[in-house]
Parts: sequence; C-alpha cells; structure tokens
Amino acid sequence: MASLKLSSLTKRFGANAAVNGVDLTVDHGLLVCLLGPSGCGKTTTLRLLAGFIDPDDGQIAVNGRIVSTPNATLPPEKRNMSMIFQSYALWPHMTIWDNVAYGLKLRRLPRDDIERRVSAMLGVVKMKEYADRYPSELSGGQQQRVALARALVVEPETLLLDEPLSNLDANLREEMRFEIRRLHDEFRYTTVYVTHDQSEAMTTADMIVVMNLGRIEQAGSPEEIYERPASEFVARFIGGTNILRGRHIGDGVVEGKGFRLFCAQGEPAREGETAVSVRPHKVQMLQANPGAAADNVIRGRIVRQVYLGASRDYLVEQDSGHQVRLTTDTIQSIDVGSVVWLRMPPEHCRALPR
Ligand code: ATP
Repeated sequence: MASLKLSSLTKRFGANAAVNGVDLTVDHGLLVCLLGPSGCGKTTTLRLLAGFIDPDDGQIAVNGRIVSTPNATLPPEKRNMSMIFQSYALWPHMTIWDNVAYGLKLRRLPRDDIERRVSAMLGVVKMKEYADRYPSELSGGQQQRVALARALVVEPETLLLDEPLSNLDANLREEMRFEIRRLHDEFRYTTVYVTHDQSEAMTTADMIVVMNLGRIEQAGSPEEIYERPASEFVARFIGGTNILRGRHIGDGVVEGKGFRLFCAQGEPAREGETAVSVRPHKVQMLQANPGAAADNVIRGRIVRQVYLGASRDYLVEQDSGHQVRLTTDTIQSIDVGSVVWLRMPPEHCRALPR
C-alpha cells in the first residue's frame, strides 16, 4: 500500500490550467474519490498520478519518494500502480483467463504462481466460470469485473480508476459500486477513483475530494462533505440545496429580500453577501401562518408539485419572487396555488461566505 502526496500540483494546456495548485495527501489504504463537474481536472490529476503526463509545477510523492516534478518523472510502469479505464481496455483476442494472467506473465512469475493467483482473483470477482470466454462474449458488467481482476491480480500499491462504471446501465452501476467497495475492504489498496457521479462517490469513498476549475474546493468524508459543505459550490454539487442570499446582521442572523434567517451552522461572510444553504428535505411546509413570533419562516405560494413515489417535490415562490424547493412525505399533498409558510429550522440553515 502506498501513501500519496500531491503538492502545488499544476498542469496547463496552453493558457488553461487543467489542474491548478492541488495539495492533497492520501494515506495508506484509503479510497479517495475525485468528484466534480466535467472539465474540472479529475482525469488530468489521475493521469499525473499515473505518470502519463508531467506536471508544469509542483510534485507528487509516493511513500515519501518523489515520482513527478516538472523536470523528472518516473515512468508509469515503475510506479506499481494499476489503472482501470471507462472502456475496460481488455485484450479482445485473449480469453478472460489470459487477460487476467497477462500482467503476471509480463513479470515472469512462475507458472504455478500465475495459475493460483489468476484462479483466486477470478473467484473474488465471481468470474471463474467465464475463464475460457473472450471479452466480446461478456456483458459490460462482467467485462468491468475482469478489468478489476486484471488490475488487482498484480497487487499494485495504488489503484487508479477513471470513471470505471460509466458505460454500465443504472442497475449494474449500483451493484458494481458495492462490489468496488467490497474489493477495497478486502485488499485495501490505496485507490484514487475519478467520477462525476455523486452517489457513486458516497457509496465507495473514505474521502471525497470535490474539484472545481482545477482546484480542490473541499476534501473530507462523505458525511462531512454533505453535512458541512464549505462553499456554495459544494453545497449545490453534493446533494442539491436552496441558496438564499443576504447580509449577516450579527449573531448568525442573515437578512435578505423578504426573509430573516437565523443560521446555527456555517460561517457568515464578514462583509458583503452571505449565502444561506437549506437542503430541500429540511424545509418544513405549514398551511397556517405560525405568527410573527415564529423564527425562520417565509411566506410563499406553491407553483409546482410533483409526486415521486417515495416523496413529493414542491417548488414554492416567495413573495420576493425567489423560489425554494422542498421535498415532503407523500401524505402532505397541497394544491398548486396554495399559500404556505416555509419553516427553515436554524440547525439546518448553513451560512456560507461567497
Ligand atoms: P470529465 O468529467 O469530462 O472527464 P475532467 O474533470 O476529468 O472532466 P479533465 O479531463 O481533467 O477534466 O480536463 C480538464 C481541462 O483540461 C478541460 O478543460 C480539458 O478540456 C482540458 N484538457 C484535458 N486534456 C487536455 C489535452 N490533452 N489538451 C488540451 N486540453 C486538455
């Protein structure tokens, strides 16, 4: 297992910095997800880690040994890393057995060792009975399992995964997320996993690194990232949220157009605008006016209601014109056009500096 340390890592393509001063430490045996919108620099970071490209600034160290700097990089094959791509990249002319054995043959391991390790690994990914087939005779999910087996059988210190599930259908993707986590719990290779799928990251990661425009916005456990987003970008990107903008008038109270909210969470901006984040499922909807004494209440009118099976999704327009989304139990069915009062509990109002 390896520990990874990225320091001020920067990669430019022309005038555009795809990765811009990234600092990140990944401890031994952790599974870290790089998560962020398209073009935020996830794949470039992974390719820098693999040694496929050189940084323009900064460095990468593996187990304390520097492997990438602008002047010198250790070639990919000397890094003891395995990488899995979106496209599986299995050898089409080789059987499943030969695909998995390939890396071990390359390392000139004794025949018995190869037999034992390939057989064990095909067992782990539940593909033993397919050993004699060719990749074209397998489903996408089965091919991805073989790709995992091929990457793991060489016992890499680091496993790099680039959107490994994006070619699979929704059900299989969900199943494979748990499979990747199970394999990680079994082998505990240090893993860097690139995805733009939030629930994939939540299911698999010990640590999520949210990237935006080549930089790290926030790094933390899935719970930290969701419960305590450090920026508006993270709050919106992870889980979705309502943002209300105003000014902090002291003691955690943010005042905006038509509202005054006490925020028990987060940190208001010292000056200028503060954004208040409230998750849709934390907003309570009342049909009667709770009175002027009630805290954190905003009046509005329902403009949309959608039945989603497990919940109802409402869009409510405040008197100021600003819209708030909320989800409720399906029992609470209120007609479009009704006037309602939205209560935003202070413990779920998070002040975020802009
Ligand atoms: P996606 O989720 O769409 O794969 P990503 O977060 O992995 O996106 P990168 O592939 O790292 O993003 O790309 C980051 C930025 O760098 C993008 O603006 C991209 O266009 C640019 N970029 C990446 N590779 C190259 C290249 N070889 N030449 C020029 N620009 C590149």
